[in-house]
Amino acid sequence: MSVTAAGPPLLAIRGLSVRYGAINALSEVDLHIHEGELVALLGSNGAGKSTTLRAISRLVKPEAGRIEWQGRCLARTPTEGTVRLGIGHCPEGRRVLARQTVAVNLELGAYLRRDRRGIERDLQRCYERFPRLRERRSQLAGSLSGGEQQMLAIARSLMGHPRLLLLDEPSLGLAPKLVAEVMAILRQLHREGLTILLVEQNAQAALAIADRGVVLQSGSVSLSGSATELLAHEDLRTTYLGAEQPGDG
Ligand code: ATP
Repeated sequence: MSVTAAGPPLLAIRGLSVRYGAINALSEVDLHIHEGELVALLGSNGAGKSTTLRAISRLVKPEAGRIEWQGRCLARTPTEGTVRLGIGHCPEGRRVLARQTVAVNLELGAYLRRDRRGIERDLQRCYERFPRLRERRSQLAGSLSGGEQQMLAIARSLMGHPRLLLLDEPSLGLAPKLVAEVMAILRQLHREGLTILLVEQNAQAALAIADRGVVLQSGSVSLSGSATELLAHEDLRTTYLGAEQPGDG
């Protein structure tokens, strides 16, 4: 589902700055996402992408700036509160519980929910969406392949029934075929109306499914625009999309 930006954004970040001691991880970042949008947050190693997601989930405290959820400032909201509001965070590196079964990992994704029927319905949906997880539901998560663990991490986030899914580098370490599989699932979730903020170093793969993109460089927004604009942008093509420089080859 492609959405025109009407009405107030679901999430708005204004002038966000985050420091880790002496390191300026983010400087005055502005970013917004409307309900139903898929926005790609791009940039190279250390650009501040994960920090942006961690600030939204209140895992790091901003030095300055505001993060608003439907116009309400999140400054006093604990991480658990962001989950209750509908912000799901699928962290980098999958972080599945290796010594627990696939089924237990999925149940843990719904740990704040009390609607047993809704949980059961979402579990069945997850198994339909990820048939390999159904086949392996009694296996330990640590015995799954890298691609399957990534699917499990996404499925576990979906079990929280999020309105906004923050995804941190879901393509990391996966073979191209699996990257395509993950992106196809995200495209489908987007079509179903889920709002997604997708952190990726793989700009090509992310922009192929995104409505818009925002590029971070050394903690600041260096470029933003529609996915089509960014895919055609010369700086992005040469820096992040692996395009050949004129005259190469
Ligand atoms: P990557 O793709 O490598 O995860 P990123 O764009 O997500 O990169 P961040 O992880 O947000 O970047 O890091 C931004 C900056 O903050 C980097 O300079 C990084 O070294 C630094 N940083 C991140 N986490 C910490 C931390 N816990 N303590 C100190 N510095 C940190």
